[in-house]
Amino acid sequence: MHATVMYRAGDVRIENVPDAAIVDPTDAVVRVTRACICGSDLWQYRSMKPTDGGRRMGHEAIGVVESVGSHVHSVKVGDLVVMPFAYSDGTCAFCSQGLHTSCIQGGFFGGEVAGAQAEAVRVPQADGTLFPLPVGEDHVLMPSLLTLSDVMGTGHHAAVCARVGPGRIAAVVGDGAVGLCGVIAAKRLGAERIILLGRHPDRIALARVFGATDVVSVRGDEAVERVRELSGGYGAHSVLECVGHGESMKTAIQITRPGGTVGRVGVPQDESMPASLQSFYGNITVSGGPAPVRAYIAELLPDILEGRIEPGRVFDRVIGLRDVPQGYQAMNERKAIKVMVKP
Ligand SMILES: [Zn+2]
Repeated sequence: MHATVMYRAGDVRIENVPDAAIVDPTDAVVRVTRACICGSDLWQYRSMKPTDGGRRMGHEAIGVVESVGSHVHSVKVGDLVVMPFAYSDGTCAFCSQGLHTSCIQGGFFGGEVAGAQAEAVRVPQADGTLFPLPVGEDHVLMPSLLTLSDVMGTGHHAAVCARVGPGRIAAVVGDGAVGLCGVIAAKRLGAERIILLGRHPDRIALARVFGATDVVSVRGDEAVERVRELSGGYGAHSVLECVGHGESMKTAIQITRPGGTVGRVGVPQDESMPASLQSFYGNITVSGGPAPVRAYIAELLPDILEGRIEPGRVFDRVIGLRDVPQGYQAMNERKAIKVMVKP
């Protein structure tokens, strides 16, 4: 089968690899009908050290179950399923509390196991990982359903961790696909006002469609001033950090009012936490981490099926598998917000 392999920064290839196959009795093999390129793939695209074997990329997918191991009972051959970016057993102490990304038998696609920017993918812990969908594989809502594998669940996690709710002012740092989904999530959870910090006109326009009430396009101290003006002088109650840079995390803390909360879902690119004195003296809670998107699918799915949210609008390019290298390039150059792959 064909799959995406990254060998080093900027070097992404489509190669012939052995077919995905059942290894453990808890595995399923899924034929990928839709996959994505993720903003987090770009970190490696910019900085990955050269490797001999390369890395099999991709952690977001919808597909059809092609075969299952002997211990798989909750999905069957022919089911159309969402594959969250992390696999999980669904039963351990952490899964039971809704923290599937800390599953003791879990791991990540495109990391521990081969990725989903491919014709097929082996899914460990299939019973706990895969979520069957009640629609056909070419349903008109497929783009939005695909976001349940990562970006919509991740934006939702940022909003939940930041304690968005009625009467609270939310601010979203970052206008990538996750930030835009964070706007959707903040609106869905009842934020009184939603301030987007972003600079790209096309993304800002989409954020306004999704529910952003204000946009701040300056950076650094100016952005902090502007958000404070927009939030009664004190800053936002709930800040969704959707980038992961030290600078964006610093801004996120600086625009949070005393007693407020930052929900961070951008993978940190630094070991240390910026603005620690300000977060200390302001009693600011910093929460968040990799989103347990598996835990959120059941909650978010009805809103997509019934048309209340349309996160699939973040996809502005659709490509075939052989064009994945150009897809990385387009996202890296900010020529695309998010790329959908149809293998
Ligand atoms: Zn678990």
